[in-house]
Amino acid sequence: MQADFAVIGGGVVGLSIAHGLLKQGKTVVCIDGTDSDFRASRGNFGLVWIQSKGIGHAPYAAWTQKAVRRYRGFVDQLKADTGIEVSYQQTGGYEYFVDDAALQARAASFEQLKQDLGGDYPYEVFDRDRIKHEEPAVGPLVCGATFYPEDGHINPLQLLHALAHACVDLGFVHLTGRKVVGATQGDAGFSLTLDNQQTVRAERVVVAAGLGAKVLGPMFGFRGLVMPQRGQVLVTEKLPKLVNRPSLTVRQVNEGAIQIGDSKEDVGYDDSETVPTTASIAARAIKVIPALKSARLVRTWAALRVMSPDGLPIYQKSTQCPGAALVTCHSGISLAAAHSELLSGWLLDQPTAPDLAYFSEDRF
Ligand SMILES: Cc1cc2nc3c(=O)[nH]c(=O)nc-3n(C[C@H](O)[C@H](O)[C@H](O)COP(=O)(O)OP(=O)(O)OC[C@H]3O[C@@H](n4cnc5c(N)ncnc54)[C@H](O)[C@@H]3O)c2cc1C
Repeated sequence: MQADFAVIGGGVVGLSIAHGLLKQGKTVVCIDGTDSDFRASRGNFGLVWIQSKGIGHAPYAAWTQKAVRRYRGFVDQLKADTGIEVSYQQTGGYEYFVDDAALQARAASFEQLKQDLGGDYPYEVFDRDRIKHEEPAVGPLVCGATFYPEDGHINPLQLLHALAHACVDLGFVHLTGRKVVGATQGDAGFSLTLDNQQTVRAERVVVAAGLGAKVLGPMFGFRGLVMPQRGQVLVTEKLPKLVNRPSLTVRQVNEGAIQIGDSKEDVGYDDSETVPTTASIAARAIKVIPALKSARLVRTWAALRVMSPDGLPIYQKSTQCPGAALVTCHSGISLAAAHSELLSGWLLDQPTAPDLAYFSEDRF
């Protein structure tokens, strides 16, 4: 099998990239591991989010804005191409605060970021009266919230489904349940060995394997600097409308269930749920929305985030193996539109490609 590109990893990052390359007329084969792999794309919180990303790193905030500002057009096109509804709602979103000093500190960091972005950061700070007016269900402990009007949420599994569907319609070869275990490079490009001894040949390779990049990256001259961070998420029964807009704490999906998120735990490659953490996530949510106290939980899960040492994405082309690129990030849902619509230009060295030098692996 010979393709222009082999994309290793078929999570939201790999599929978004494959989608963009296929739209540019390239042939793409995607090799995607097994269900026993860690798969953040199937365990995330579904926010399409700008707020708080890039504090102290304005280029990351700007890149996230660029991605989210393309989202409506991106998902509308996916719907037109596949008929799949991904339930994207760009209502604006909050971070709630129960401590006024913490709210003021966050507002100060947003003000600095706004200056760093030349004034383009349209956040607001809602005091207690304003947030109570917007979200009548908030409890007495909430002293205010930051609000960012371009934030929103999506059904992340439907996004994955729509991307896979769109890619197949564009002629994509999807090898699921297969892992890349070896690679060599010759005059004709890369030769990838799969775990069933099958060989896939491609002129170029994109490593988009999430946590799998730790092992795969060095095969292509990258440093494999990804590490896991566990997040646990809770889901309630379907409820009547309780919250109007999503936040980092709670979001009500269009079918009515409330998702409550999420922890940040450094526990290595352990993606099990734990009662103490789910209890503390629930307690935090009840502080914000007291009515959740009587809601029944129907499901909890844990998944591992794909983190770089500074939490920012890595976009790196290999100098050791020209033609190989590494893409990894911890906000693959929020960045999906940019990964589909802009990264192909970067991978193909087109003059209009975004400048991603800030996100090089060399920064570490
Ligand atoms: C709890 C939690 C909450 C989150 N919330 C949000 C959110 O609200 N908004 C947001 O934007 N992001 C969120 N994220 C992050 C987001 O889910 C990830 O950034 C994104 O899913 C990463 O996608 P990926 O494709 O890089 O990795 P993955 O989804 O992990 O996919 C990697 C794929 O590579 C495959 N693979 C690995 N090794 C090999 C190999 N050797 N050969 C072939 N295939 C291989 C695996 O099988 C897997 O399918 C959250 C993550 C978590 C865990």
